[in-house]
Formats: sequence, structure tokens, C-alpha cells
Amino acid sequence: MSRNLHSDIDHFFDTLPDEPPRLHCSKCGSNLMYLNATLFTTGPGGKMWDVPLPVCPKCDLKEDTAKFVPPCVVCGKPVQLESSKTDEHGQVVHEDCYTQRLLSVAHDTPSPQHSE
Ligand SMILES: [Zn+2]
Ligand SMILES: [Zn+2]
Repeated sequence: MSRNLHSDIDHFFDTLPDEPPRLHCSKCGSNLMYLNATLFTTGPGGKMWDVPLPVCPKCDLKEDTAKFVPPCVVCGKPVQLESSKTDEHGQVVHEDCYTQRLLSVAHDTPSPQHSE
């Protein structure tokens, strides 16, 4: 079993795309840092690799905080930053939900009584 695992990992590294290392983040264009990650297999015939992993100091290191977006107050689902909107109370909503809510509020408003 472990022989198969090792050859799988060998194969994995053999098939890594042979691209020139990226120097700039594809998201924000910052200079990337390279952190060496050491991968290894244990047991007889175990191997070690030092693999430089590109890390964007802006995007990757702050990913945890950047990912935190409060859920939409209308539907309770996560809001993508790109499509987020804040309503009149400063709460995060989907643009669609905001529009829907405006429409439903307008709909729920009792229409002026007709005097008969
Ligand atoms: Zn970046
Ligand atoms: Zn929503």
C-alpha cells in the first residue's frame, strides 16, 4: 500500500506544471513571497521535498479576515463582497434581496382606504 502512495506522490510532483514561478499576485498584483513548505513521506523509502509556495502578503495572509462577511440580513446567506450592498440600517444584504424587500415592503403597505 505504502509503495503505491509513494509512487502517487512521485507522479504528482512529476506532473506539476512547469511554469515559471509567479512573481505577482493574480488578484492584487502584489509581489509574492515564497514560503518553503517541507513535504515528506514517512516510513522506509520516505522522501522529503522542499516546495516553495507562493503567498500573497495581501490576499493570502489576510484571507481569514477578508473572508468574513456578515450574512445577508434578508435571506441569511453569505454575501459576496462584489455583490454586497448595505441597506439603510448599514446591514449587509444582497442587492437582489434589497430590491425584493423594498418591493415587498411597498406591497405590504396598506393601500389608502377608499372611501365608499
Ligand atoms: Zn494578492
Ligand atoms: Zn440575500
